[in-house]
Amino acid sequence: MLSDIEIAQKNVMEPISKIADKVGILPEELEQYGHYKAKISLDVLKRLEKKPDGKLVLVTAITPTPAGEGKSTTSIGLAQALNRVGKKAVVALREPSLGPVFGIKGGAAGGGYAQVVPMDDINLHFTGDMHAITAANNLLSAMIDNHIHHGNELRLDARQITWRRVMDMNDRALRNVVVGLGGKVCGFPRQDAFTITVASEIMAILCLAKDLEDLKARFGRIVIGCDLDGNPVHVHQLGCEGAMAMLMKDAIKPNLVQTLEHTPAIIHGGPFANIAHGCNSLLATKMALKLGDIAITEAGFGADLGAEKFMDIKCHYGNLYPDAVVLVATIRALKMHGGVAKADLSQENVQAVSDGFSNLAKQVENMRTFGLPVLVAINKFATDTPAEIDMLLQKCASYGVEVSLNECWEKGGEGGIDMANKLVAMLEEQKPQKVELYDVNDTIPNKLKAIVTKIYGGDGVTFTPNAKKQIKQLEDWGLDKLPVCVAKTQYSLSDNPALLGAPKGFKINVQDVRVSNGAGFIVCQTSNIMVMPGLPKKPAALKMDIDNNGKIYGLF
Ligand code: ADP
Repeated sequence: MLSDIEIAQKNVMEPISKIADKVGILPEELEQYGHYKAKISLDVLKRLEKKPDGKLVLVTAITPTPAGEGKSTTSIGLAQALNRVGKKAVVALREPSLGPVFGIKGGAAGGGYAQVVPMDDINLHFTGDMHAITAANNLLSAMIDNHIHHGNELRLDARQITWRRVMDMNDRALRNVVVGLGGKVCGFPRQDAFTITVASEIMAILCLAKDLEDLKARFGRIVIGCDLDGNPVHVHQLGCEGAMAMLMKDAIKPNLVQTLEHTPAIIHGGPFANIAHGCNSLLATKMALKLGDIAITEAGFGADLGAEKFMDIKCHYGNLYPDAVVLVATIRALKMHGGVAKADLSQENVQAVSDGFSNLAKQVENMRTFGLPVLVAINKFATDTPAEIDMLLQKCASYGVEVSLNECWEKGGEGGIDMANKLVAMLEEQKPQKVELYDVNDTIPNKLKAIVTKIYGGDGVTFTPNAKKQIKQLEDWGLDKLPVCVAKTQYSLSDNPALLGAPKGFKINVQDVRVSNGAGFIVCQTSNIMVMPGLPKKPAALKMDIDNNGKIYGLF
C-alpha cells in the first residue's frame, strides 16, 4: 500500500470550480485560492435560507486508544460511498493543526483511499485560517499588555489575567513565559503562557459563530481576567473586538476542497475536543446541510467527549439535531479495551474483541441516550482476522445494533457501499427523538452530574476546593448558565486514562472551572489538560522533506 501522500500525489484533482458547480455554489459565491481550494461566501446560506436542510449524520467513535480509530477516514470514505450510491453527500471536517502534523498523530485529512486533497496544503497553511486566528488572539494579548503599560485604566490585575498568547505549533518551551522583560519601555513584566492555536477560545468562537456580527459580539464577551476588585473584565471594555473580527474576515468563510473521488468537502475550524468542543464550524455544517442531501460531519475523540459536546454545545447553539450517528470502531482498539498491549495487537485474539466490546456497547448506548439511530462502522485494518471480525459482527447482532464492515481506507468509496446503503435505509426508516441531556440554566454541579451519570457511566462528581471557589465566582458573576465543556482524558470514559472498557463505580474529580464566555461554555477540567503539547523524541518532522521542484515527501 502506498503512503497517504503518495496516494494523494497520484490523484488527479478536478478544478475547484467544478466541485462547487456540482453542489450549486454560484461562481460569485466562490473565492478561489489557487486551482483546488476556495472560500465559500456566507451569501450561500442567505440564498438557500428557504431550502430545506439535508440529513445530518454525525461520525463519532469508541473511546480512542493509541491504536487509532479513523473517524476522518470513515467520514470521507462514507461521503465517497454515498455519492457512489447516487446520494449528494457533502462532508464537513475540521482543519488540521500544525502541532500534530509535526508531532506524533499526523495530519487530519483522512488516510489511504479516503482522503481530502490537496492533502499537503490542507495539512500545512491551507487558506490561512490558523494564522488569522493566531493574529486575532495575539492582537488581544498585545492590547492587554499595552493597556497596562499606558496606565491601566481598567485596573486589570496582572496576576489574574487568564487570556494567553497562542501559536499553532507543539512547543513545550512556551508553556510558561514571562513577558514584559527589558525595562520601562517594554511594559510591566508578568507571567504569561502560550496555548496551541486550536485550543484557543478564538478557535472555539469561530466554530460557533453564525456570522461576522455574531463573531464580533462573542469576541466582545470574552472574559480576559479580573480587575483589582475581583470583577470580570471583558474584551469590549478594551474595545478591540472590531479589529479582531476584521482579522477574521476571510477565516470565517468555510473552505471548499474535494475528496480523492471528487466529493465536495468543506473543511473549516478545528477546536481541540478536550478544552473546547471538538467539531468543525457550525457555518461549515450548515452549508453542507444546504448544499447536500446528506451532510456528514465528525466530532473529536470518543462519543463521550466529542459527540456529547456536539449535541450539548454545537447543536444547542446551532439549533441542529443529527438524523443518525455512525460510530467508528476498530478491532485493534477493541482488543486494547479488552486488555491487549499495543505491541501484541497484530496477533489474533478473539476473546479480547469480545471483552473490549463493552466500550462499544456503552458508546452506542450513549448515542441512544440522545435518541439517535446508530450504525456501527468497523474500520477494517489489514491485521484484522476473519474470526475477530465475525466475533464483532456477532456481538453487534446480539446487542441489537446495525453494523457494517468499512473498507474505505483500502478501497475508497467502493469499500463503503454496504455502510452507505445501511445508512440510507436508516435515514429513511428511523427518526431521532430529541433529548435534552441537561438544562443549561441548572447549576454547574448538576449539569456535570447529568453528563457523568448519563454518559460516562460514573456515579457522580467531586470538586477540589479551588473548583468550588471558581464555581461560586461564576455564579456571582452570573456567568454559570451555559453548557458545560468537560476537559478530561480521551482514553477512558472516566477521568483516569488507565480505566479502559466501560468502567463503573467511579466519580470524576473537577479541578478547575473557567468560563469561555465568548464561545459560550464553561470548561470543567478534570486533570491537567495539555493546551500546549510538546514534540516527541522523534517528531514526524524528521521524516519530511521537499525537493527543488516542490515535491513533498514524508507528510504521512
Ligand atoms: P481520527 O479521525 O479518528 O483521529 P483518522 O481518520 O485521522 O483518525 O486516522 C488516523 C490515522 O490512521 C491516519 O493516519 C489514517 O491514515 C490511519 N488509518 C485510518 N484507518 C486505517 C485503516 N483502516 N488501516 C490503516 N490505517 C488507517
